[in-house]
Amino acid sequence: MKISTLARCPSCGSRSIRRVRKAFRVRVGTRTVTIPDLEREICPECKEEFFDREANITIDAYCFGKSRKRA
Ligand SMILES: [Zn+2]
Repeated sequence: MKISTLARCPSCGSRSIRRVRKAFRVRVGTRTVTIPDLEREICPECKEEFFDREANITIDAYCFGKSRKRA
């Protein structure tokens, strides 16, 4: 499944998706990893967050210490 820049929220259908860049915390097994500034899209209506390919690569790099750069 691939999520790119969204025009509408897949969860609630809102069109006010906003792109933000701020710290993101993710739990990996028993530890919590903080990514200082991760760009992602947030729906202000249902608070759902969406990550595009770039964001997923960044998350992977932080969580698993490697960058998986697949074309
Ligand atoms: Zn929504």
